[in-house]
Amino acid sequence: MHSISKKIILGKKALVAKNYFSNDEISPSAIVKFTCNKCNHVNTVEITPYESGFPIFQLYNEDKVLTKTDLLNNNIVTKTSPGRIHYGELTVNELPTLYFGTHCESCQSKYLGVFSYGEKQPGLTVLDVSGIWEYKELESLN
Ligand SMILES: [Zn+2]
Repeated sequence: MHSISKKIILGKKALVAKNYFSNDEISPSAIVKFTCNKCNHVNTVEITPYESGFPIFQLYNEDKVLTKTDLLNNNIVTKTSPGRIHYGELTVNELPTLYFGTHCESCQSKYLGVFSYGEKQPGLTVLDVSGIWEYKELESLN
C-alpha cells in the first residue's frame, strides 16, 4: 500500500470478492481480494484498522490527485450528511474514509482502493470497501 500524490485518471473498477466486513471479520485485519482487469490475477490486500490507508481528503484537497466530482461521479464516495460531517465532506457509508494505492502483483497495473472503517452503531464495527479502480498517472505537462 502506498499514498498517491500525482494527478491520476481512473479506469475500470476491479472485481472485489467481498467488500463488507464486520466485527470479528476485521480483527486483527480484513483480507480483500480483487481480480486484475488486465491479467485476471487475483490479488490480496490486507487492511488493518487504524494502520492501513491514507485520509481520502488528501486525494481531493486542492484537486491534487482527483477532484470531488471525479470521486462522486465514479460512485467512489457520497456527500456526507450534515450530522456526520466530522468524518469528512466525502465518505463511504458515512464513516471515516481512507484510500490506498496498490498494484497487481502479476502485471504491475496500478490500482486505487477506497474504504471506510468505524463504529456504525454501538456494537457494530464495519469495514466497507467502496471499490478498487485501475488508474494511470497523468504526466506533467511542463
Ligand atoms: Zn494484472
